Formats: sequence, structure tokens, C-alpha cells
Amino acid sequence: MQTKKVIIIGAGPAGLSAAAEFSGNNNFEVTVLEKNPEPSYKICGGGIHPDFIKETVSPDIMDREFDKMKIITPKSTFIMEYNGAKFTGTLNRKKLNEELDKKARNAGANIIYGKTIKKIDDNKVITTDGEEFVFDYLVGADGVNSIVRKSLGITTKKFLIAYQYIIPGDYEDIEIHIDFQKFGITYSWIFPQKGVISVGTGYTVMEKKTAKDTKKLRSNFETWCKKRFSLEGAHFEGFSINYDYQGFEFGNTYLVGDAAGMASGLTGEGIKPAILSGQEVARKIQNPDYKYVNIPAYLKAKRKEDGILQLLISRPWGKIIAPIALNIFSIHWFKKILFKALNYKIR
Ligand SMILES: Cc1cc2nc3c(=O)[nH]c(=O)nc-3n(C[C@H](O)[C@H](O)[C@H](O)COP(=O)(O)OP(=O)(O)OC[C@H]3O[C@@H](n4cnc5c(N)ncnc54)[C@H](O)[C@@H]3O)c2cc1C
Repeated sequence: MQTKKVIIIGAGPAGLSAAAEFSGNNNFEVTVLEKNPEPSYKICGGGIHPDFIKETVSPDIMDREFDKMKIITPKSTFIMEYNGAKFTGTLNRKKLNEELDKKARNAGANIIYGKTIKKIDDNKVITTDGEEFVFDYLVGADGVNSIVRKSLGITTKKFLIAYQYIIPGDYEDIEIHIDFQKFGITYSWIFPQKGVISVGTGYTVMEKKTAKDTKKLRSNFETWCKKRFSLEGAHFEGFSINYDYQGFEFGNTYLVGDAAGMASGLTGEGIKPAILSGQEVARKIQNPDYKYVNIPAYLKAKRKEDGILQLLISRPWGKIIAPIALNIFSIHWFKKILFKALNYKIR
């Protein structure tokens, strides 16, 4: 069999996980092209379930692991736990990319940093310095502003704008704050990592907002932050998250992770779907008979979450439902029954 060339654009979790999945298969020559000069940090809260990372990436790259999560609404504070299992955790995104880079290299991938793709022609990609890379298969793992997605003519209408302070220091609990008056139809998070705390929030651009509204949200967020933390030495940053999924398989071209709009619109979580989609697309390229399992299962859950977000932001229903939902959250016995059905314990 003649060796097939696979070009993966983007060395984030999606692209590097795809590359690592070709391990031991000499029928494919895998090249990852990344614009950053080395495995890099990515703006992110770093929140993800530790079991997933331990199983799929490495047993020791989590910064913190939590048995419980504190949820705070204007009328109630409660603790959510799984029955006996870890609830969630946090990691550093540079460390994650470094670990995945190692895995992909060990699998035989050629990872070239400092290469920005500016154009995609029929069967080749062209970098800003004029170099050309021919492919049999192309994987777009190039994040929110994906050039591969654009080359397929897919526009992105549904995305979140998320921003955070990275604050030096330690914090005990992982917390979610829900206050529609202060933050809009979203949540704010406090995600302690090792030596720093990610404190952030965001909103979907599908929520009809004026410039004044967004300014107010930002100012409410600032006030809320300053009440809890000294921002001395803190670093402010923001980026968008694509949740506008419109398919991932287009002939010999695939989209994975944020390029495909895989993140959840409701929670903004995109690391896990990036890894899962990268891995499964790589399996499909190697074996055309491979039946996708994880992508359809994940997309089913994502559809539900995106549907909840759409309902909450829709007018006039959202305006009625959102405050009712938040009030119901303050009724302890109701929460207990609801969360028990979802396999959570609350107190
Ligand atoms: C503020 C914020 C907080 C977040 N918090 C969380 C969280 O707590 N948990 C969670 O699960 N998710 C979170 N996310 C979402 C998560 O960061 C993304 O969903 C995830 O990084 C997607 O991975 P990816 O590999 O698809 O894309 P990326 O990680 O964005 O990687 C894409 C790569 O492609 C490269 N690239 C782009 N264009 C080109 C080009 N033309 N040529 C070459 N290379 C290119 C980029 O440099 C980048 O390295 C958060 C996002 C934000 C903005």
C-alpha cells in the first residue's frame, strides 16, 4: 500500500490527539502544522474531568482534583457531588499541549511549529512563508477561526465570548456562580489551578445584546471579582468558543474540536470533545469501515445542552423560564430529587 499523507492543521488537543492515534501505522505519514513556535498555553479555564484525562492523556497532568463543586445562586448555595467519584478537576493548558505533543511524536507524527497556513488548495496547504504541503487527508484542528472551516464555506454564527482573570494564588473550592441579573444567561467560574486561579465568565453572541448590555456585564464581572480577590498581579484575557456544529466529515477533509464547533454552548467545555473528535477522525481515516461511537454520543449530549441554552436566551420564553429555573434551584428538596435522578448528590 502506498503511504498516504495526512496533514493536520493545529497542535491543540484536537490536532495532537488525532496525530497520536496513528501510532504504529506505517501506511500513513502524519504532519501537524502549528502557527505557535512551540507547544503553547491556550486561553482556557482548564476545567475537565480527571478520569477522562488520566485515561486518554496521562495519569499525572491534572493540577487539581475535586470531589465536589460549590454552586452559588442569589438565593442558595449548595454542594454537588457524584456518588463516590471525583467531581471535576483543572489542568494547565500548556502542560496538556506538551504532553499531547510528546504522545504524537512517540506515535511517529512530524510536528512542525511556527507554520501558519494561509491557504488551502485542492490537495495542498500553503503556509505564509510560501511552503506547500500535499495531502491525501486534511484535518482542520485549527480552532475557533479555522481556515479549514472557512475553506469549506462554513460560517460560524453561534459562539461564546469568554473572558477570565488569571490570578496568582490558591483557592480551596471549585465554584460556579449563577446570577442572571449580574452575568446574563451564563455562569461565572472560579477554577483553582496550581498556583493560580482562573476566574471567568462569558456569553453567547446569539443572546441579543446591545454594546451597553455587554459593557454592563463586564463591569458587573469586574465588581464581583474585586469583591473576592485582589487583582494585583492578575492577568486579563479573553477568546471565543465555537459551538456552531455543522458536520465534521467532508470527503477527505475533516473538522475536529473548536474548528467543528464541538464545544458545548451551555457550559463552554471544549477540551474533551476536541480530544474525542480528533481521536475518532484519525481512526476513520485509517479504517474506512470504522463506525463512530464517541462523536455521535457526545453530539447527542451537546444537542441537549445547546437546546437548553437556546431556550434560556429565547424571547419572550427565556425571560420567563430563566428566573423560574433559578428560583426552583433554591428549593432544596426539588434539587435533591432532580440531581438524584442525574446521579448527583447535593447538600
Ligand atoms: C476563557 C475560556 C475558558 C475556557 N474554559 C474551558 C474549560 O474550563 N474547560 C473546557 O473543556 N474548555 C474550556 N474552554 C474551551 C477550550 O479552550 C477549547 O474548546 C479547546 O481549546 C478546543 O481545542 P482545539 O484543539 O479544538 O483548539 P485550540 O486549542 O484552539 O487549538 C487550535 C490550534 O490551531 C492553531 N492554529 C489556528 N490557526 C492556524 C493556522 N492558520 N495555521 C496553523 N495553526 C493554526 C492554534 O495556534 C492552536 O494551537 C475555554 C475557552 C475560553 C476562551
